Amino acid sequence: MGQAVVADAIDKYKGQPTKQAQFLLNYMNFNVAVDGRMNQEALNAILMIQFCSGIRITGMIDIETLDAIRNYVAAGFTADRIRTCFNEMTYSGSMLAFTQSVNVGSINPITLALIESMLEECGQSKASITSALRTPEDQARAMFNNIARTGANSQRSIYEANGNAVIDIYVSGKAAGKTDAQILADMTARIAATPEGVLSLHVVSQTTYDKKNIIDIGHSSLTDISAFFNTLNEYKERGIISRVLVENGCYHIEIPMPK
Ligand SMILES: [Zn+2]
Repeated sequence: MGQAVVADAIDKYKGQPTKQAQFLLNYMNFNVAVDGRMNQEALNAILMIQFCSGIRITGMIDIETLDAIRNYVAAGFTADRIRTCFNEMTYSGSMLAFTQSVNVGSINPITLALIESMLEECGQSKASITSALRTPEDQARAMFNNIARTGANSQRSIYEANGNAVIDIYVSGKAAGKTDAQILADMTARIAATPEGVLSLHVVSQTTYDKKNIIDIGHSSLTDISAFFNTLNEYKERGIISRVLVENGCYHIEIPMPK
């Protein structure tokens, strides 16, 4: 039955790959408007399908992606079954490294596959993730190290009032002759008392993080920093990435998770 649907779609939407993909996604129960324009529902489905079928994650309907969709429909897959596949996927790539403090387990595997796809798209083969989900203590340590490295004033320019209050704790702690361990503990307590996501989108619950992955990629780990930045912005234009910031020698990237 799926095969007949695919044959009909190929016939009905000849030369209209986006409409054909949307029709087939809709048949699978993804609730996609068949209007020939890329929309959020179609993008959501396409990201999952590209990841599950092991092709490059681009958010675009190229011939490989259209083939993948046709194959799933022909094999009788529904949207629910794609979502189950997606939730069971693991990361099996080899381009990415992680600095020691990174909570690798917090990151959705599609985020890692997506970064690899972006690296491939700009002809690069490696990157290092320097931050993902952070505990208040991780955040305190990162801020402590950045202040020690670049000075309090330069860090103040990055944060709002809640972050500046944490920086003040560092400055007054140093002035009072407190130990680094005590200052770190004081900073951690202040961060833990701040509502989640207010100080930094890295410091949230895993449940919140599961809706939108926030990661940093170190500039020094990239072969070509500006080429990667261009690719990040292309992915942003496609609606795959919601925000890119340049901060403390990293690209800070926010990626809403498909579901
Ligand atoms: Zn960041």
